Amino acid sequence: MILEFMNVQTFVHGLLLNSFSLMLAGHVAFGRNKLVPIGRIHYVLHWLYGKYEPWILRLTDWLLRKKFITDTLAGRALLYILASISHYLPHGIVVPTLSAVNLIRFIESLQGEENSPKLAVGPCVCQKALDRWQEPSCKDIVVLYGAEIYLHLNLGYRIINADEAVAILEQCRDAGLVHSLDFCMQSGQWHFVICNCDRDICVLVRTFQITGKMIYPGPLTVKQNKEHCLGSEVCGQCVKICMFGANSIRDKAIHLDDRKCLGCGQCVRVCRGNAREVLRRVEYTHENVIPVQVLLKGMEIWNGNKTA
Ligand code: SF4
Ligand code: SF4
Ligand code: SF4
Repeated sequence: MILEFMNVQTFVHGLLLNSFSLMLAGHVAFGRNKLVPIGRIHYVLHWLYGKYEPWILRLTDWLLRKKFITDTLAGRALLYILASISHYLPHGIVVPTLSAVNLIRFIESLQGEENSPKLAVGPCVCQKALDRWQEPSCKDIVVLYGAEIYLHLNLGYRIINADEAVAILEQCRDAGLVHSLDFCMQSGQWHFVICNCDRDICVLVRTFQITGKMIYPGPLTVKQNKEHCLGSEVCGQCVKICMFGANSIRDKAIHLDDRKCLGCGQCVRVCRGNAREVLRRVEYTHENVIPVQVLLKGMEIWNGNKTA
């Protein structure tokens, strides 16, 4: 009993000390077209989330691996409710590599606090929490105040420059991973990481696959030029690569369901018939979080009438 009390006391003491040291520095976040200072409560709340995130991931993974949850109506309803009430926890916007690169370059160009890191990379938090590994695994690119928090938490992160971040994005793209710009509180000022997600381990993607929540479509989608498509027997690469089930085979022909496409661009990369191209999504719903102007800068994209 006394030991338990002492453990709790040590825990609270550590928490207070950490919280106090976290409050000393100024921190900046992504603010559409500029860096913005963030409040200390914002910083400490996110630090606490980062500290206890592995527990949340392990619990969610446990639910996602139980057949009585994923294969029953009641279980899926429970997951849907849990995902809905997690509205202010991390959600992601799916973008192709060029948009993620644009964001990195944009962040790099912003003037920040002296000595405060803008970018850092570390081991995938999902893989680390679940102790299930798949290469590349050093792929969580934390940004601005997110970089400060994850460096402070001593989880194996290191500061990187923009060129290193771009090289990691390209390596992840070539491995078939999807870039997800993650933010909390449904706000761009809480954007803290560029994740590179797989379909087997990533808790965010697996939750989305069952509930349709936690991940949002980005500003792009794709169209298919049927005359150029080589068909499922000769190619079928788009069906294999898409982790959101937007491509399927019907009578040996490829069917693209644009309602399911989140705009990751992976099918365009692997298409052997040059039958896919990206185009502007009619309704990008997260302009208030990360604006199109940043994500599509310099990209030649057909939108029906003109290029973006
Ligand atoms: S959301 Fe994806 S990239 Fe981010 S920590 Fe989880 S698996 Fe890794
Ligand atoms: S259809 Fe293509 S761009 Fe859309 S989500 Fe699937 S792989 Fe990504
Ligand atoms: S990847 Fe391209 S060519 Fe291959 S099946 Fe899909 S659309 Fe057709």
